[in-house]
Amino acid sequence: MPELPEVETTRRGLEPHILGKRVKHVILRRDSLRWPIPFEIVEKLPGQRITGIERRAKYLLMHTGAGSALWHLGMSGSMRVLAANAPAGKHDHVDIVLAGKRVIRFTDPRRFGCLLWQPTGEVHALLQKLGPEPLSAAFTGEYLFQRSRGKRVAVKSFLMDQAVVVGVGNIYAAESLFRAGISPLREAGSISKARYEKLALAAKQILAYAIERGGTTLRDFINPDSEPGYFEQELDVYGREGLHCKQCGRPLRDSRLNNRAGAWCGHCQT
Ligand SMILES: [Zn+2]
Repeated sequence: MPELPEVETTRRGLEPHILGKRVKHVILRRDSLRWPIPFEIVEKLPGQRITGIERRAKYLLMHTGAGSALWHLGMSGSMRVLAANAPAGKHDHVDIVLAGKRVIRFTDPRRFGCLLWQPTGEVHALLQKLGPEPLSAAFTGEYLFQRSRGKRVAVKSFLMDQAVVVGVGNIYAAESLFRAGISPLREAGSISKARYEKLALAAKQILAYAIERGGTTLRDFINPDSEPGYFEQELDVYGREGLHCKQCGRPLRDSRLNNRAGAWCGHCQT
């Protein structure tokens, strides 16, 4: 599943190829993805120039003077810039055809992704209740500490709550908690400010490293034969249930939270 680093890498990969380009027309090979694709995509985008591509949480916003196309890659989505005559496959659901014989192609085998419309001057409902970006100055240990007071929820669930901070999914929550030495099961409200400072720093470092690595290892965004978007992570705990802790050598435990797997070390994380 594309996580925040893959979405940011996608944004960076697309930007130089689409910025300032004019949309000629839009080809929809189905009328809905996770949700119906609104008519504005077909009626308002053509003729517009792409003025920017922005990431908010795991959403991508493609801005134009008429409004913004709002994308989410869902479980299996990816976006590439290809030659306009590149044959479309079974899972290539949307083409944004650009002047200059290029096309932005959205591919999504499982169709949990979405393509929606945000009118100019408005913030889409999906973006309204999101917490701060993890790599922004607003996301700090002090913020997590204040926000968690009185909360009895497990700290891992707290960290994965998009209203608290965006884009920290199961992988990055597990990895950040391991690096900070905090048990994922500990009550969010019982953790000290000093420990939250470690946690915020760990999350920032791990995400920034993944983005940097994605930028250097990702197959390029204009090669039709590549599978863009996802890259191997160097993970300490996620997906390593029962294997040895890289720090102490003891077997990692598996504690499910909200029905999602979660490896952690009962010795290194308290
Ligand atoms: Zn350990």
